[in-house]
Amino acid sequence: MNFYHKYQAEFKEYDAMAEDFIDDDKIWDQLNKAANPSKAVVRKVLAKAEGKVRLEPEEVAILIQNQDPETIDEMYALANRIKREVYGDRIVFFAPLYISNKCANNCRYCGFRRENKLVERRTLTLEEIAEEVKTMISEGQKRTVLVYGESPETGIDFICDSIRQVYRTKWGNGEIRRANINCAPLSREELAKLKEVGIGTFQVFQETYHHQTYREMHPAGTIKSHYRWRLYAQDRALDVGLDDVAIGVLFGLYDWRFEVMGLLYHTIHLEEKYNGVGPHTISFPRIEPAIGTPFAAQPKYAVSDEEFKKIVAILRLAVPYAGLILTARENPEVRREVLPVGVTQIDAGTRIGVGGYRQAAGNMLPDKEQFQLGDTRSLDQVIYETCQMGNIPSFCTACYRAGRTGEDFMAVAKSSFVHNFCMPNAILTLKEYLLDFATEETKQAGEKAIAQCLDRMADDKIKNFLRQALARMEEGERDIRV
Ligand code: SAM
Ligand code: SF4
Repeated sequence: MNFYHKYQAEFKEYDAMAEDFIDDDKIWDQLNKAANPSKAVVRKVLAKAEGKVRLEPEEVAILIQNQDPETIDEMYALANRIKREVYGDRIVFFAPLYISNKCANNCRYCGFRRENKLVERRTLTLEEIAEEVKTMISEGQKRTVLVYGESPETGIDFICDSIRQVYRTKWGNGEIRRANINCAPLSREELAKLKEVGIGTFQVFQETYHHQTYREMHPAGTIKSHYRWRLYAQDRALDVGLDDVAIGVLFGLYDWRFEVMGLLYHTIHLEEKYNGVGPHTISFPRIEPAIGTPFAAQPKYAVSDEEFKKIVAILRLAVPYAGLILTARENPEVRREVLPVGVTQIDAGTRIGVGGYRQAAGNMLPDKEQFQLGDTRSLDQVIYETCQMGNIPSFCTACYRAGRTGEDFMAVAKSSFVHNFCMPNAILTLKEYLLDFATEETKQAGEKAIAQCLDRMADDKIKNFLRQALARMEEGERDIRV
């Protein structure tokens, strides 16, 4: 069968639908109605957001349309508070692993698109995956997201084999304990296979929720051109019991105000259909320049740094229980500025060339990248800075390994669980990093951050447990978790 016809039978389910849950006109109506809100109107929405509930589209439209510097600052302060209350002072670390840049699609913004002749194509073999993973582990990584183009070479069986290979690979005391997936939308049958292998989060970014723009960005005749096949990718994952799903937008393709509303409507759709389970995480990459990709150099709807910060704070307030991922596409200055307004996860030490970790370790130039990275600092440098900023870097994977996903995860996220479990686990995994991988400078900064965090802890029982566990780790014990 021709590759483009792979999902023709499954497409029928979506072609038969009269409409989907993104109503472009309604979104613009809501945005237009909310134009130029008064301080009082904005403060009313902020007061509701203090209750840590998911906001409604009309309320989010008000935050989006607000131009008043005073209440925007109030929004930033509240977003920072909500993040600390829900997630504590921890930032989860991960690094992506690019498995293949072969792709049959032709997305106008992406360096991997089929027509781009300037990128050397490659799919890692299982042996090469093991080498990449060993390099990542040797740098201290514990969590990854595996990234794939959409091609006959990277079908579901290969994806499953590659995940098994990642989990199988060990180096010294280390291993990858959670592998998330960022690949093309899959059928329920394929997703059931992913579930069997044991993945963390299943990520698919809609790129743009705007129907017309979606059509322009994804040429007809490619699988990716089917808007609804992508829009309902998370539904299919949840249908087969893969219950940590992630959504995202590629900012720069269309008006950011519309896209934030799209992310919200997607969240509401999932919550309504799946018993309150919304997205586990939300991603908000901005388009970066990519080799052989003129569109990416000058996106029509480029988002400024100021708008970007606003987007993150609004998402933090609108969907308080979703993790927010800020990637190394952004440069260190932007990451420093945006982190405090609600980010819960960042990648660091990232290499996005296929085979890039080993290449970088050997000081070779990357030649297979999807786009240009903004933050090329080492994991150690970013851990150091995160500690200096008063946060605890976390490599924790306890919930996933204990089966607390989907509904169970939402229940714990909404309780004091974060402070009783996630913060201690963050401290324990940071300690592991400091003992096994950190430079002397980072060790000192990390020990100081741990000591300060212990001082602030109210619960003596947890504090005593942690002190003992930290001492056991000094003696060589590893992988202790609450
Ligand atoms: N091929 C799969 C897909 O398209 O869903 C997954 C891998 S794709 C490499 C992962 C994400 O990279 C895309 O969903 C898109 O949001 C992002 N991306 C593509 N081109 C980009 C660019 N020029 N700058 C930043 N991010 C980009
Ligand atoms: Fe392929 Fe994904 Fe890039 Fe589109 S965004 S060209 S589907 S790798």
